[in-house]
Amino acid sequence: MSPHLFDAIVIGVGGMGSAAACELARRGRRVLALEQFALGHDRGSSHGHTRIIRKAYYEHPDYVPLVCRAFERWYDLEQRQGIHLLTECPCLSIGRADSPMIAGVRISAAQYHLPVEELSGPELRRHFPVFRFGDDYMGVLERSAGFLYVEDCVQAHVCEAVRLGATIQDMEPVVSWEANEREVTVQTTADRYTAARLIITAGPWAGQLLAQRGTFLRVMRQVVQWFGTRDDRLFRRDVFPLYIADTPQGHFYGFPVLNANGAKVAQHYGAPELIYPSEIERTIQPQDEATARAFLREHLPMIDGPRRRASVCLYTLTPDRHFVIDLHPDHANVALAAGFSGHGFKFSSVVGEILADLADHGCTELPIGRFGIKRFV
Ligand SMILES: Cc1cc2nc3c(=O)[nH]c(=O)nc-3n(C[C@H](O)[C@H](O)[C@H](O)COP(=O)(O)OP(=O)(O)OC[C@H]3O[C@@H](n4cnc5c(N)ncnc54)[C@H](O)[C@@H]3O)c2cc1C
Repeated sequence: MSPHLFDAIVIGVGGMGSAAACELARRGRRVLALEQFALGHDRGSSHGHTRIIRKAYYEHPDYVPLVCRAFERWYDLEQRQGIHLLTECPCLSIGRADSPMIAGVRISAAQYHLPVEELSGPELRRHFPVFRFGDDYMGVLERSAGFLYVEDCVQAHVCEAVRLGATIQDMEPVVSWEANEREVTVQTTADRYTAARLIITAGPWAGQLLAQRGTFLRVMRQVVQWFGTRDDRLFRRDVFPLYIADTPQGHFYGFPVLNANGAKVAQHYGAPELIYPSEIERTIQPQDEATARAFLREHLPMIDGPRRRASVCLYTLTPDRHFVIDLHPDHANVALAAGFSGHGFKFSSVVGEILADLADHGCTELPIGRFGIKRFV
């Protein structure tokens, strides 16, 4: 029996922290998870209705086994909580033939025998007539993709963690932590806690909590917007896919129309890299709408209705845009997951499992070799 009240403390209850708390509780660990804001808040990275999940992973084939495991765990969480979280929906990657994104999709699909369909420019227009891309573009359609309801996923992990005995405290910011060989101590604005293990899943605030070990992390403002269409029936998910388009103006992505807000569209990256979340402009600017409308005007002209919703969200970036999931370089009893670089949410179900493995055993059988922190510190 551990001398501590808790076996593990998790700092940050967003996508990754909620999943870690859930998995640790499932394993019978006594977990305390601390969140600085109200649960389900919109100041971090895990809000905005939906997230894409796809297997033909253009960022690197190493992610494919992890995303397959993530799919299983999302379905498992759906069953345990009796809630719908993941909707299957094809994902169309669009780019010129020399697009690194298109090349990346092809490589991952080939390496893992994932069924994808290649569409020439004319075929792309025939299959999806609402898109306007010239003959120099092509598409790769992955039917085994889908999207997650992001807030519902976090809430489901939280509910499952609490059901299994975890203590989750929101509105309690962690101001500092320390670790020695025997234990970890966490100081919040309200109390001081000790445990055998610490897990840091602080999203955009990870750089601050990791101090000199987190100086490589940057945050980036991202804006998602929902626009009315000329005819929502043309953008239903049975006829219109998720899409990611690599254009000379940058990467843009979007979703079918899922509710009365219309079509969700956003640019991926394309904003300055900052050090602190406090530097982020939280209000919507005229340029945000102008950027999205310029993309829509050129490539999806039937999405030209009023803007019905807009939201600011944060990416936490590593220099190579790959994740950090590892033990802390100075403390074997501290695990961390950060720098998801704008593509991490889909993995949160499996990241919870990895973090629980790292906390329990100091290692995991899941393939996380690419995500070591030592490549930066
Ligand atoms: C606009 C947008 C679109 C995206 N699209 C996709 C997509 O389609 N597919 C995909 O897979 N990924 C996507 N992502 C990326 C994905 O959402 C993130 O990688 C993921 O949500 C990161 O989760 P996290 O747990 O690291 O961060 P968060 O969810 O932000 O959680 C961190 C939590 O830690 C808390 N915290 C921080 N410091 C403290 C402290 N000192 N004390 C207590 N609590 C603290 C924060 O308040 C926060 O709740 C997108 C991200 C954005 C912004």
